[in-house]
Amino acid sequence: MAGVNLINVNKVFPNGVHAVKNVSLRVDEKEFMVLVGPSGCGKTTTLRMIAGLEEVSSGEVFIDDKRVNDLPAKNRDIAMVFQNYALYPHMTVFENISFVLELRKMPREEIKRCVNEAAQMLEITDLLKRKPKQLSGGQRQRVALGRAMVREPKVFLMDEPLSNLDAKLRVQMRSEISKLHRRLGTTVVYVTHDQVEAMTMGTRIAVMHGGVVHQVADPQTIYEKPVNAFVAGFIGSPAINFLRGDIVEGTNGMWLNLDNNKVNIPEGYAKVLRARGYANKAVLAGIRPENVHDDEQFMANSPHSVVETVVENTELMGPETHLYLRSVGHSPFNLVARVSPRTKARPGNNIRVALDMERIYFFDLNTEAAIY
Ligand code: ATP
Repeated sequence: MAGVNLINVNKVFPNGVHAVKNVSLRVDEKEFMVLVGPSGCGKTTTLRMIAGLEEVSSGEVFIDDKRVNDLPAKNRDIAMVFQNYALYPHMTVFENISFVLELRKMPREEIKRCVNEAAQMLEITDLLKRKPKQLSGGQRQRVALGRAMVREPKVFLMDEPLSNLDAKLRVQMRSEISKLHRRLGTTVVYVTHDQVEAMTMGTRIAVMHGGVVHQVADPQTIYEKPVNAFVAGFIGSPAINFLRGDIVEGTNGMWLNLDNNKVNIPEGYAKVLRARGYANKAVLAGIRPENVHDDEQFMANSPHSVVETVVENTELMGPETHLYLRSVGHSPFNLVARVSPRTKARPGNNIRVALDMERIYFFDLNTEAAIY
């Protein structure tokens, strides 16, 4: 099985920086695993340890069920694609791609066949005679992918391969890499700080922060069932709203007190909060912008989940509008709502919005762990 398995892997650099902390991660064969997290969270270091470019301080790395801790990079049967694709400038596209096959002393005819096959898949057949400087950024990135592909590695490692491209090309290459992965069926470990790339490309995502892997799951689970406030806040755009509130037991159920506003907690959640000892305690609530509604219909159906706000700003995005709101009360909090572009809300308006309480999250104030 050409998977990758990390067991309790640590990296402490000579200067004392503990960049990767006890990471255990299994990447199955043919899987597209994305390591995502903010700058400095340890994703590149993790990838470099898989590649053999960085020594492991402790723990074990397996590729294809074989322990590779002491195996040099060149013997690991992996191919890496970086953001600066580092093509050989004096070689043509054909030569750039065939270089590694020449080194392997592959017969000429076979080399041609391999390069042409890769070029066809990447739609760069017309460019084979050009030099890298005669190519656009996207075309260069494809050549870099082609160069990695012809090696037929067990595992592809990609470190922010799209970050040098403009926004439009990035979107295009994103789906091309996904298609390529499906066609080749190779195991991929892909590093990015971009949560949209992670969500759209990964079959599974590992969210990292401070050298630690917080959650590993498929994109939908990461979005819908984040294990803590960090994961909830990192994935999703505009980001989830965090509201500090008090859980109070009332005569008709449990309520979340948000400054001057009181919203009713559905019984399903109330049971969990009670069982876990959060009744009459402060919590961190999380609500995604798409679950904050300004339409009358929703408000009429959910009279006990309404918050009074002032519109501070509106952003027209085309298919949707983002409302930047501030609650009315003694200790106002901010709230972003993702609403229909037909909204009548304008900056300065006082409006009421309703929270979809079936889709609210609760986190412990101290540990920030999700309360499920
Ligand atoms: P980015 O998205 O900015 O590339 P990253 O998540 O890939 O970030 P790493 O490059 O893995 O993060 O770095 C993790 C931590 O280790 C950072 O604090 C970084 O400063 C530190 N670090 C990386 N390389 C070294 C090194 N050679 N010596 C000392 N510290 C290092």
